Amino acid sequence: MKIDEYVDIKQYSSLKVGGQFQYFAVIDKIADLIEALSFAKEKDVKIFILGGGSNIVFRDGAINALALKIEIKGFEVVSEGDNYTDIKVGAGENWDQTVSKAVSMGLSGLESLSAIPGTVGASPVQNIGAYGSEVKDTIKEVEVYEIETGEIFNISNKDCKFGYRDSIFKNEAKGKYVIMGVIYRLLKETTDGIVSRGHTPTALSYPGVMKYFDGKKIENPSLEQTREAIIDIRREKLPNPIEVPNVGSFFKNPIVLSVVADKILNEFSNAKFFELEDGLTKIPAGWLIENAGLKGKSFGSVSIYDKNALVLVNNGNATSEDIFRARDEIMRIVKEKFGIALEQEPEYLK
Ligand SMILES: Cc1cc2nc3c(=O)[nH]c(=O)nc-3n(C[C@H](O)[C@H](O)[C@H](O)COP(=O)(O)OP(=O)(O)OC[C@H]3O[C@@H](n4cnc5c(N)ncnc54)[C@H](O)[C@@H]3O)c2cc1C
Repeated sequence: MKIDEYVDIKQYSSLKVGGQFQYFAVIDKIADLIEALSFAKEKDVKIFILGGGSNIVFRDGAINALALKIEIKGFEVVSEGDNYTDIKVGAGENWDQTVSKAVSMGLSGLESLSAIPGTVGASPVQNIGAYGSEVKDTIKEVEVYEIETGEIFNISNKDCKFGYRDSIFKNEAKGKYVIMGVIYRLLKETTDGIVSRGHTPTALSYPGVMKYFDGKKIENPSLEQTREAIIDIRREKLPNPIEVPNVGSFFKNPIVLSVVADKILNEFSNAKFFELEDGLTKIPAGWLIENAGLKGKSFGSVSIYDKNALVLVNNGNATSEDIFRARDEIMRIVKEKFGIALEQEPEYLK
């Protein structure tokens, strides 16, 4: 296994921001992982686990760490029941290709999460979600390598403690495991040819998705049609990071007491908020930013995307400092206007 030194981070960052990794290795099998971990111990550097780099802001300058770019592959059916199929997918597999494969096998559950950049291994980390669906509803277990003991075992869905864009992998288990693979339980076509639709009903109640199918006069979309719809809708709303560097949503959707949301609704009666249980309401962060008059605004080399106020875009040569300056300004203006504190979604690697 090759360990490179002083590797440019920008090429591994969808935001095209960051300095250099002091050490860098590509991991496609367990033996390489073991070797790389012992190298890091010997050199006394921390490790950083890298997937597709689409949910991280990397610091400028040299990062004293060994970055492990996980490229562990594999896609296999591991068990089946009458109405479900369990698939195990390697952490280094591309997420969207995995969704595409599942849909083409007539397996439902991932289709509403089409076109999210990144890898399978990162999918449980922030419990990726879109259009009201979350990957936690399909994850049966996560296979991990425990760095301290060298043991490989599965963590159950319950023990992953999934929450909104959250899991143990971002909290108490951060830095403890390398995710090797994920086992998804997907729903399959029944004998009468009907697919029990995993996430589709949730996505279908989303205004943008409803409008899309109404426009096409499709009442009961197939898995392929749902995937196609999501891809089309996302293409309109989200810049392709290959052309326009970004990390998707830069802020989480704040969850506030419904009384707080009601105050805003009194003023903006056409706002679409999402009522949750326990007297809580989810407010789209993009709505707050847009209604603070910031959509399309530039802060030097960083802009708010003109088709989606939730996305910060690197106009070319932005540094992480520039990104954070823009973030702080946006948060200040939103707080001043609505009294709501936004929270950053992507991780920051110092
Ligand atoms: C245009 C665009 C649209 C997006 N849309 C969405 C969206 O709709 N919904 C959504 O939830 N996210 C979205 N994202 C964010 C991002 O794509 C997801 O969070 C994705 O899961 C990140 O995958 P990645 O492989 O790039 O992870 P990285 O950014 O490389 O890593 C993210 C975190 O996961 C950890 N990690 C990665 N792999 C492993 C592993 N094998 N073991 C242990 N830890 C690991 C990393 O250390 C890091 O902490 C979007 C991003 C972009 C650029």
